[in-house]
Amino acid sequence: MSREIALAARPEGLPRESDFELRESEDASPSDGEVLVRNVLVSVDPYMRGRMTGVRTYVAGYDVGDPIDGLALGRVVDSCDEQFAPGDWVVSRLGWCEQGVAAGKRLRKVDTALGPPSTALGVLGFPGFTAWIGLVEIGRVKPGETIYVSGAAGAVGSAAAQIARLKGLRVIGSAGTPEKVDWLRSLGVEAFDYHATRPRDALMDGIDAYFDNVGGEQLEAALSALRPNGRVIACGAISRYNDARAEPGPRNLFLMVTKRLRLEGFIIFDHYARFPEFLAEVAPWVRDGKLQYRETIVDGIENVPAAFAGLFRGENVGKMLVRVGPD
Ligand code: NDP
Repeated sequence: MSREIALAARPEGLPRESDFELRESEDASPSDGEVLVRNVLVSVDPYMRGRMTGVRTYVAGYDVGDPIDGLALGRVVDSCDEQFAPGDWVVSRLGWCEQGVAAGKRLRKVDTALGPPSTALGVLGFPGFTAWIGLVEIGRVKPGETIYVSGAAGAVGSAAAQIARLKGLRVIGSAGTPEKVDWLRSLGVEAFDYHATRPRDALMDGIDAYFDNVGGEQLEAALSALRPNGRVIACGAISRYNDARAEPGPRNLFLMVTKRLRLEGFIIFDHYARFPEFLAEVAPWVRDGKLQYRETIVDGIENVPAAFAGLFRGENVGKMLVRVGPD
C-alpha cells in the first residue's frame, strides 16, 4: 500500500486541510507499455485551484473523491516500456501520491546532466518554459524595452524576470515580502513590495510589456502604465483564484483601444513542440549561474494541502514542491 491525496470537498475561498483526504491506495503493477514510478517530489500549482471547482476549462476538473493528479518527479521502479529502466528520473502526471503506474508515453525522462532533478519541475520544467514562451512567443519582447513582471519571486515570475534581463530588457518586478524583494534586487530586477507600494506608483515611468501572473489591481495598474502598442502577456491571475464569484474586469480596459494594446493569453500545454528549443537556450544559463532559481521544499505527503494553500499566502520563494520520498 502507498498513500495518495484525494479531494474531500470543493474548497470555498482559500483551500483548507479539510478539503483533502490522505488515504491508502492499492499498489498496481505495470502492464505492457506502462511504468511503475515512485514519487520523490510532487508539484503544487496555482492552476489546480481552478480544477477543484469542478468546472472543465482547458483541463478536466477534479471530482470530490478523485485523487489529485498533476506534475510529479519520481524514479522508475519497474518498467514494461523499453524506453525506461529502473532508476530513471521521470516527470509524470501522477500527482499527489507516493507511487503509481503511468503509460510510458505520458512520461518525460529527465536529463540529469542539465541540472539537479528537481529543476525538471521548476526552472527547467513547465514554470521556466511558461516564462520563456510568454516572453518569446506571446510578448515578443525586444532588447531595450521595459517589462513589468508581477509575482516576480514565484516559479514562473522569477524565471520570466531573469530571462527578460538576459534578453536585454529593463525589468520591474513585484513580490509580497521584503525578503523576496531583496532577492529580486540581487538579480538586477527593480523590485517593490506590492503591500507597501501601489503598483501604479511603481510604474509611473511607463512600460512596454506586462507579464501578468496576478490579475486584478496589478493588471489595472499595468494597463494604465503601458505605452502605445504595449503588450500584456496574460499568464495567470492568482489574486482571483479563490474568489467565490467573478469580479468585474479592469475598469480601464478601454485603454486597450486608445493605446492600441495587445493582450494575449496562453496555456503552456499548447506549446510543447518548443520545449527542446527552450531547454537549449535556458539550461546553459542555469548551468552557468546566469539564471538563478529557488525552491521551497515542504516535507511529507501529509503536508501537500498546506503547501498548496501556501501558494495563495505567498509562502514560497521560487518553485513550491513537496518531498514525498527519498531520492
Ligand atoms: P508561484 O510560484 O508564483 O506561487 C504563487 C505566488 O503568487 C505566491 O508565492 C505569491 O507571492 C503570489 N500571490 C498569491 N496570492 C496573491 C495575490 N492575491 N496577489 C498577488 N500575488 C499573489 O506560482 P507559479 O509560478 O506556479 O504560477 C504563477 C502564475 O502563473 C499563476 O497565476 C499561474 O496560474 C500561472 N501559470 C500559468 C501557466 C499557463 O500556461 N498560462 C502555466 C503555469 C503557471 P507573493 O508573496 O509575491 O504574493
